[in-house]
Amino acid sequence: MIVAIDGPAGAGKTTLARALAERLGYTYLDTGAMYRALTLVAMKEGIDPEDEEHLFERASSLSFRFEGTRLFVDDEDVTNEIRTRSVNNLVSVVCRHRKVRELMVSLQRQLAEKGGVVVEGRDIGTVVFPSAELKIYLDASLSERVKRRVKEFEKLGEDVGLEMVKQEIQERDRLDSTRDISPLKKACDAILLDNTNLSVDEEVAALERLIKPVAKREKV
Ligand code: C5P
Repeated sequence: MIVAIDGPAGAGKTTLARALAERLGYTYLDTGAMYRALTLVAMKEGIDPEDEEHLFERASSLSFRFEGTRLFVDDEDVTNEIRTRSVNNLVSVVCRHRKVRELMVSLQRQLAEKGGVVVEGRDIGTVVFPSAELKIYLDASLSERVKRRVKEFEKLGEDVGLEMVKQEIQERDRLDSTRDISPLKKACDAILLDNTNLSVDEEVAALERLIKPVAKREKV
């Protein structure tokens, strides 16, 4: 069974997807991490984020390997480096090119081919796995999403004000939801889950309730 979790920045997709994968004994696939890793490589190598061909070529030569929640690119652990603000602010530009997205989508399908996966991203329910057995569109109020992001930055030792984080989140959501190819949007058969006032445990419990009948139907 494939569980697809999409939604805007800071909605808590990662926390939920990881917790759910652990509860179900599923694999966790973070597709945003792959776009972030390509962005990091582009930044380090001075690749123009508008240069589709160059980005595509570089992405084609990279090897992505997940070990639990860690991501290795060409055997280098990039898990922490891909979470910086500079990557956040560039990733939506790097990932909007058709050739780059087509390549990443095919890699993501390969990584999930065995099934039993919780996959998070922006276009999972609409493009990557349109026939996923369960699709969730996770959302929360903007102010809650901003607060969560500020806390995450604090943990990384980055002291960023609420207003700045708010602007950055809004800009990333704008770019992600207005791009021509695979924009962020709720799949018509996705279930909207607003977690503004839910704890992680409450959220996972809500999802487990949704999964049970689907799993029964699919005989998982
Ligand atoms: O989920 P996360 O915030 O790590 O994603 C980083 C960025 O990667 C998103 O803002 C979006 O631009 C891009 N992304 C995407 N499609 C996905 C996952 C992420 O375009 N499936």
